[in-house]
Amino acid sequence: MKECEICQSSEFKAIVAQERMYGTGDIFDYKECSSCKALFLADIPEDLGKYYPSNYYSFGSFNPSNALLALLKKLRYKAFSRGFSFNSPVYYDWLSPLTLTPTSKIADIGCGNGQLLAEMAYSGFKRLDGYDPYIQAAFSSENFSIYKKDFFEIDQKYDLVMFHHSFEHLPNPVEVFTKLVTMLNPEGQILIRVPVTDAKVWKEEHTFWFQLDAPRHLFIPNTKSMEILGERFGLELFNTTFDSMDSQFWGTALYKKGKPLVGTDIGNEFSKKELAEFRNKALQYNKIKIGDQACFYYRKKKQ
Ligand SMILES: [Zn+2]
Repeated sequence: MKECEICQSSEFKAIVAQERMYGTGDIFDYKECSSCKALFLADIPEDLGKYYPSNYYSFGSFNPSNALLALLKKLRYKAFSRGFSFNSPVYYDWLSPLTLTPTSKIADIGCGNGQLLAEMAYSGFKRLDGYDPYIQAAFSSENFSIYKKDFFEIDQKYDLVMFHHSFEHLPNPVEVFTKLVTMLNPEGQILIRVPVTDAKVWKEEHTFWFQLDAPRHLFIPNTKSMEILGERFGLELFNTTFDSMDSQFWGTALYKKGKPLVGTDIGNEFSKKELAEFRNKALQYNKIKIGDQACFYYRKKKQ
């Protein structure tokens, strides 16, 4: 890569990172764009699949609700839509800046086991598709379908295309956006939840950062990179919200101790008080936009 795919700057800083989630210690080279501050994995390994073993977190088994619980979930979302919030799941927050109806056609890219789509179906959404090339087999129920398909093979149009921590697993953000704009209906919206290099944890702890996650994260943007991508593709970036979590602190602390995530019991590593402090700190970081992940909301610009 001679120039940044996003901003075309030709200045980079070289970064050497280690695989830490499984603790293999394998070494990977990243480049950080000196202008837009996006990070790129320099050489994508051919055997990337070996870094997604079957115990990879997004393939855990899917947890269905019984009829009563499903009904309660439907009522809870109805109440939320009318301004009454009780015991709201976190995905309500992710969806709240969007304009959606129960018949909005929605795609979840990199949906893993499909739990989010199932929850949205219980909440009353009726046209939900998930795509993931790494799942065992395609799956469908009354209100949602999951396809074993790569993002670039999708041939449908949507009112909303969502990426919940899957965008950074795709190799080329410009190719992703080129495809994305062809997938939107006229009022189409995009939600991308992704780690960001705005993170204070990245600036302070460098390659111990939990969400660098070499080599699974092929690319990590900065809020600046996401603004440039929107402009290049005629999309309005109408909302950016930081939604980082306590994991940025305990995960990074764990890696500094030289321990892998997989096979380590977090409850044994940190006290309840420490974990509570991490949760509070994440909320503070999000307020001042230095958390380690954010939600980016785009829509087509009105012609
Ligand atoms: Zn750049």
